[in-house]
Amino acid sequence: MLPAPARIGAARLGDHGDKTRFVLELTRDTPFAILPDSQGVTVEMEAALDAPLPAAKGLVRAIAVRPGASPGQLRLILSTSAPVRVLLAEVIPPRDGMPPRFVMDLAAGVAGKGSAMTPVSAGTLKPPMSKEKAKPSLPLVVIDPGHGGQDPGAIALNGLREKDITLAMAKELRRQLLATGRYRVALTRDKDQFIPLRDRPAIARTKGADLFISLHADSITGKQVRGLSIYTLSEKASDREAEMLAQRENQSDAIVGMDLSVQSADIATILIGMSQRDTMNQSRRFASLVLRNLDPSIAVLPSPLRSAGFAVLTAPDVPAVLVEMGYLSHSQDAKLLGSDAHRRRMAGSLLRAVDGYFTGNAVPLRP
Ligand SMILES: [Zn+2]
Repeated sequence: MLPAPARIGAARLGDHGDKTRFVLELTRDTPFAILPDSQGVTVEMEAALDAPLPAAKGLVRAIAVRPGASPGQLRLILSTSAPVRVLLAEVIPPRDGMPPRFVMDLAAGVAGKGSAMTPVSAGTLKPPMSKEKAKPSLPLVVIDPGHGGQDPGAIALNGLREKDITLAMAKELRRQLLATGRYRVALTRDKDQFIPLRDRPAIARTKGADLFISLHADSITGKQVRGLSIYTLSEKASDREAEMLAQRENQSDAIVGMDLSVQSADIATILIGMSQRDTMNQSRRFASLVLRNLDPSIAVLPSPLRSAGFAVLTAPDVPAVLVEMGYLSHSQDAKLLGSDAHRRRMAGSLLRAVDGYFTGNAVPLRP
């Protein structure tokens, strides 16, 4: 049995002149994570909300609530009137008859990239952010197996489902990356589970990812198209096919009735930020490394390096690519994608690209 989730009994905003304080009264301590971005800050918390959210005050223009990455989690999205720094975020233990309280102080201004843009996770009563502050020595690669749960993705004529192929490939890539001893690896899912698109980049940010690789396999009706292609984020799709592919992949959430308009807005917003430019350059650098390191036996599309507005590539500070490993609509591609030997070769290719990416990166993007 899991313990009963924490409940939020009251939520307040206070304007203290030089800072805006956000307070949640809790029934018990609970883990949380802080995800700042250029538009404000998101608090992800294992808790249920029993109280109305406060009206705008100080730097906070609005607070929205959404489900979190996993059941029992929620997200409080604070939109601010200016870029903000998180001065403090912690759960204060109960005292003087007061319940435990989550307290977060925000001030106007942008901190250095390492603090303002790096999401921090805090334990319950440990000093906030201490765990994430100590930058581990090994780079963290987050692998995102596309689709899952009630969203099978593309389905091949031979019955193979994209969600199974992407998961198998993610596990093989994880195995090979970990075997080098040079990387830490996390998967956005390691079982057959539905994860909303917007949660996937959020998972990468929460974990402090240095590189995000989303794995997919495409399908086209009535065409004998085959081969791998690799995508980076762009507002303007590199061509019509890329645009249509992004539309297909961005439909995942529609399967469970989620609002897609929010994602389009996110993509537009993120692309506006100039801080995104470094990330985009690094993403493109990794994408071209993948193509350069690809095993010669792996077929590629003509002009395989493309860009489009993929919702999963929108973490503003994590270099990210989406690999379309081949076409499930093509009999040879489908057969290969179902084969262990082919998966080992493809994972080996990606490993070489990851090696090239991190060893050639004399000035790491993330401090
Ligand atoms: Zn897909």
